[in-house]
Amino acid sequence: MQVFTTATSLTQQVRAYRTQNPLLRVGFVPTMGALHFGHIRLIEEAKNQCDLVICSIFVNPTQFNDPADLLRYPRTLERDIDLLDQAGCHWVYTPDVDDVYPPDLNSAFEIDFAGLDQVMEGAFRPGHFKGVAQVVNRLFSIAEPHYAFFGRKDFQQVAIIKHLVKVKNIPVQIVPVDTVRSDEGLALSSRNSLLSDLERKESLIIYKTLLAAQDWSKTQKDAAKLKIRLVELFNQGTLQLQYLEICDNDSLRPVSQITSTCTCCIAAFCGKVRLIDNLPLL
Ligand code: AMP
Repeated sequence: MQVFTTATSLTQQVRAYRTQNPLLRVGFVPTMGALHFGHIRLIEEAKNQCDLVICSIFVNPTQFNDPADLLRYPRTLERDIDLLDQAGCHWVYTPDVDDVYPPDLNSAFEIDFAGLDQVMEGAFRPGHFKGVAQVVNRLFSIAEPHYAFFGRKDFQQVAIIKHLVKVKNIPVQIVPVDTVRSDEGLALSSRNSLLSDLERKESLIIYKTLLAAQDWSKTQKDAAKLKIRLVELFNQGTLQLQYLEICDNDSLRPVSQITSTCTCCIAAFCGKVRLIDNLPLL
C-alpha cells in the first residue's frame, strides 16, 4: 500500500492513474482513523466496485464543535495503516492540518444545506455539517474519485454529502454502506474505544430501542405516539438521551405518520461519550 502525506503528490498520482487507465474506477473512503470493521467494510465495498481504492485518515478540526471531543478523539495511525494494508486498500492519504487547509488556499467555503443541517445532529452540533462538507469537498478535490463510500451509521451525513455533490456539481457517485455492529448490536464507532465494559453493555439500549421502533411501527403508525413509547423504553436504561427522531429519509424532517421511507435516529450520551445510531422503519 502506498502512503501519501501531501495533497499535491496524491492528486498528481491519481491524475496519472486516471489518464493511463481511462476505463478503470477510482473509489474513495474518507475516515478520521481509529479504524474498526465498519471502516474496513467500506474499503471492501470500494474494492468490490472499484479498481483503485484510496482511503484518507484525517481528524478534521473544523467539524468538531466541542474542543474537548477533538482532544479526546482516538488516534492510532500505525495500526490503521496496518489494517488498511491487510484489507487490500491501495493508497492511503494521511495529511496534517496544513496540507488539507494550506494558508494560501482560497478557503471561504459556503453551502446552503436547504434545511438538512437544521435538525438532529445539526441542531445539537452547530457548525458540524459545514465542517464535514468543507473537508469532504476538499478531499474530493484532492483524490478526484469516481465513487465515494459512506456509512449509513451517519445517516444525516450521507444526506448532507449527497446534497453537497449535487449543489457543487462534483462528478462523484456517493455509495451508502450498511452499518456494521458488534455481535450484540452496538454500532461500531471509533468512540466505542472510550467506553468501559459496563458502558458498552449499557449502550445496547440504543439498538434495543431501534429494534423496537422497527417492530412497533408495523402496527403504530402515529409517529408521536410511537415516539413516546420508544423514549419510555430508552429511559429504562442509563444513557442520557439527546434526541430520538422519526424522520423522512429525504427531507430529514420529523414525520407525523410512519411510512416506508422513514428512519428512527438516536443520539445519546454514555458518560462523556456521545453515540449515534439509526435504523430504517420498513
Ligand atoms: P469516521 O472515521 O467516524 O469519520 O467514519 C468514516 C466513515 O466510516 C463514515 O462514512 C462513517 O459513516 C463510516 N462508519 C463509521 N462507523 C461505521 C459502522 N459501524 N458501519 C459502517 N460504516 C461506518
